[in-house]
Amino acid sequence: MTRRRSSYRSLASLQRDNAVCRACVEAGYPLESRPVFEGRAGQSAYILGQAPGIVEGVERRPWRGRAGQTLRRWLELDEEAFYSTFYCASVTRCFPGRAAGGRGDRTPTPREQALCSFWRDWELRLLRPQLILAIGGLATRRLLGLTSLDACIGERFELAGAAVFPLPHPSGRSTWLNRPENRARLERALELVHGELDLAGAGSRNA
Ligand code: SF4
Repeated sequence: MTRRRSSYRSLASLQRDNAVCRACVEAGYPLESRPVFEGRAGQSAYILGQAPGIVEGVERRPWRGRAGQTLRRWLELDEEAFYSTFYCASVTRCFPGRAAGGRGDRTPTPREQALCSFWRDWELRLLRPQLILAIGGLATRRLLGLTSLDACIGERFELAGAAVFPLPHPSGRSTWLNRPENRARLERALELVHGELDLAGAGSRNA
């Protein structure tokens, strides 16, 4: 049964309630995993993805599949450094199942996104990260209200005192990276992110 308090004083109690959240199922949506997220108090960097995939849903750990490997390669972080640096969350936190046409995962509906924003809002309030990565178009839209990847990849934004960098989704399904000018945008974005990670002391970069 979903429990949401009117206020949270610790990430631990927020995570306890988030871990058993069934709000979307109670609203009639067919989710195929329990909530997936990972992080701890004191982390100064935060990743917002779209939603867990099937692998993440089974393992109940974010960024376990191929997209996670690509993301770590972009960030030049090994697994240990990645999970110790970033609090990993997503717009929705339960595997939404496959898309009706069979290509890729189902995009969470606006209602599911809105239901799940409760957890993100409290995480950001309690964690107060210095660095936020918004991975993919949906996360960028939910976090910054921006709709064009072309216009925002490679740029730095601010949100409640945090530096925010949108990145394209590393799933391999997106064709956005096929264009050379977009590869250049990604390289610029990663340069900026690497600089922030160095400042934050994410010392295990593989560079
Ligand atoms: S997607 Fe988010 S709001 Fe919906 S059931 Fe999962 S954790 Fe709860």
